Amino acid sequence: EEGRRRQRLLDLNRDAARFYYQLLQQPEGEAVREYLSRRQIRKATAVKFGMGASSDAWDVLLTAMTKKGYTKSELLESGLVVQNKNGGLYDKFRNRLMLPVVDTRGNVVAFGSRVLDKSEPKYMNSSETPVYSKRRVLYGLNLAKKTKRPNMILCEGNLDIVTLHQAGFDNAVASMGTALTVEQTRLLARFTKELVLCYDNDNAGKIATERALQILDQSEFSVKVLQLPRRLVDGESVKQDADDFIKFQGPDAFERLLSGSENGVEFRMAQVAGKYDLTSDEARVAYCEEISQLLSSLPNAVEREIYTARAAEAARISPEAMTLEVRQAFKRRA
Ligand code: ATP
Ligand code: MN
Ligand code: MN
Ligand code: MN
Repeated sequence: EEGRRRQRLLDLNRDAARFYYQLLQQPEGEAVREYLSRRQIRKATAVKFGMGASSDAWDVLLTAMTKKGYTKSELLESGLVVQNKNGGLYDKFRNRLMLPVVDTRGNVVAFGSRVLDKSEPKYMNSSETPVYSKRRVLYGLNLAKKTKRPNMILCEGNLDIVTLHQAGFDNAVASMGTALTVEQTRLLARFTKELVLCYDNDNAGKIATERALQILDQSEFSVKVLQLPRRLVDGESVKQDADDFIKFQGPDAFERLLSGSENGVEFRMAQVAGKYDLTSDEARVAYCEEISQLLSSLPNAVEREIYTARAAEAARISPEAMTLEVRQAFKRRA
């Protein structure tokens, strides 16, 4: 019974995905087709990701799915149809680019969606349902699981994944804006041993990277961090994500960043170093104190020695003094 209800929801999601997909090819899908072309997403890419369009009207999905025999309670449970205060039903997704979220078995479990203009909310995703728990799904993993590349790239956004796959990085997946979860790392572990974090290079992305590193510290993965450079526009530095970077710098430049990506310790050390102006003595002292805490947390002695030497060099002090500082930090922890 429980299994049958889940299957009905999966069928409904698949039928809805077909409905949105067909709408994209029709005259009504013109605005979304234009949006895709503005974002340089090719037809073949849109097809590969099963992209669709939702209508401007309030009830076309509701009507079509009702005709197919889905009940009101099934429609509401799927989250594709919602209810207003007076009990009236209407389509949740309207006038949006529709991005089906497909699990590793090929089931459509949910939808992401994007508005076509600057209005809010920019992204709207399916609510949690009996077949969709956002903690357990990664956008694009249904495709990325077949990659021949040795690792997987983890991004924030759905369209980062689309652009990366289109540019030949068919190993990219996204957590769709939410923090990486332990469940997602277990899912990834079935397909790869090496992860490359490639979050947006704004403050939120840096914090998300640090959080992901903490979760991955307890895992067996080899972890790298691909840091996208900021982009200069009229002399001002602006944030970039993987999608922006590929558009402006191209796939080869991304490939170079990928092979040059640093490990988690290097990322963390760079974050600490970025906080201090190491030309002042006071800053050097403060830097040594903070970096020694980080270094004292490294479980591997060889690793600890290598990075201690590097930190000493950055602060222009002797490796011996830095080693002492790290030992003291270690004692404070214990
Ligand atoms: P754009 O389409 O403008 O390039 P983006 O993917 O760069 O968008 P971000 O603001 O970096 O968007 O957000 C990353 C991801 O977080 C999105 O792709 C989406 O999955 C998720 N997200 C962003 N805003 C929301 C929101 N309001 N509700 C739910 N999810 C969101
Ligand atoms: Mn972001
Ligand atoms: Mn973006
Ligand atoms: Mn982004």
